[in-house]
Amino acid sequence: MTVALTDSQFERYARHLILDEVGEAGQAKLMSARVLVVGAGGLGSPVLLYLAAAGVGTLGIVDDDAVDLSNLQRQIVHPTARIGVTKVESARSTLAALNPEVAVETHLARLDEKNVEALVGAYDLVADGSDNFATRYLLNDVCYRLKKTLVGAALSPFEGQLSTFKAYLGKPHPCYRCLFREPPPPDSVPRCVEAGILGAVAGVIGTLQATEVLKELLGLGESLSGTLLLYDALRADFHRIKLPRDPDCPTCGG
Ligand SMILES: [Zn+2]
Repeated sequence: MTVALTDSQFERYARHLILDEVGEAGQAKLMSARVLVVGAGGLGSPVLLYLAAAGVGTLGIVDDDAVDLSNLQRQIVHPTARIGVTKVESARSTLAALNPEVAVETHLARLDEKNVEALVGAYDLVADGSDNFATRYLLNDVCYRLKKTLVGAALSPFEGQLSTFKAYLGKPHPCYRCLFREPPPPDSVPRCVEAGILGAVAGVIGTLQATEVLKELLGLGESLSGTLLLYDALRADFHRIKLPRDPDCPTCGG
């Protein structure tokens, strides 16, 4: 792939271009990529900031919420001045200030069964920064069906987890349902809203999520597909769990 970079692009992306593993061809891949980020909250903030800084050409943001003062302790894409503004608009303003070359497509909606196919179908890759199981399972099943790579993350007060799902490629890649077949009963797992979270933990996991998105777009290194990466902030410890594909999985089995 060849694109003619402008002088200012050469300068902006110089630290990518100097890497043999990225270079002009890799930067061109990023600039032509379309990534959907679900949720402009604690995870979505660092994901959006780093993907915009990296020059990912088009970022879609799905969120139906408005910025609240209590969000700002971790949702670093939103400044105090935008309390009350929709998160998609607030994020769009921040990203435009960071890198005006990135096209930001805002979707002021809650992802649901009616809109998910059109939204996911319009992008190359999905980063799930949602905070609820209904969205997580919906994205897993639709990304599998539409053959889109899904980089998913989740948070608890002092812990986070991250994996990449591309079970559409076949064995041995698992999907999220291979790991946890059904969502837990509603309200059995508290969300950040109820449970609290050390804000920077969202930053650690969201930044790892952005890194995995960039690796997938560039085809760099080892994919997290088939591995769950767990972070324990209190012990300052990471560990990895192998995720086997389940031949009886209701989504990707058979
Ligand atoms: Zn599966």
